[in-house]
Amino acid sequence: MPYDDQNIFAKILRGEIPCNKVYEDDFALAFHDINPLAPCHVLVIPKGAYVSLDDFSDKATDAEIAGFIRAVGHVAREQGVHESGYRILANHGRDAHQEVPHLHIHIFGKRDMKGMLAKAPA
Ligand code: AMP
Repeated sequence: MPYDDQNIFAKILRGEIPCNKVYEDDFALAFHDINPLAPCHVLVIPKGAYVSLDDFSDKATDAEIAGFIRAVGHVAREQGVHESGYRILANHGRDAHQEVPHLHIHIFGKRDMKGMLAKAPA
């Protein structure tokens, strides 16, 4: 899937629409999810134009990958969820119901997240 520069996170990166920012560096921007599913629900996105982890892991430079992953860990520590625990999640494509076609890592925390994934119906 080609990158669509009109996606909502591209607009946030360009400053065309606001976000509730928690962190920014050369590689990543992090902000609160607009529809939080946990007391801590932050999205971390790379500055580069990547559709999903599939695209990012294939095309991003080592520096971009290292910078982005370091930002995810930094944000989790800044949010204070590193001791109680947190879950990260990145949806790619149809089966994962990815809504926004710009790579984003969800960080969930400050509640018990229970099981990893609902079981498929028998
Ligand atoms: P996904 O299904 O992994 O693509 O998740 C997209 C996430 O982006 C959802 O959790 C939405 O609530 C969130 N989202 C959509 N628009 C915005 C926005 N303008 N600011 C913050 N979060 C957003």
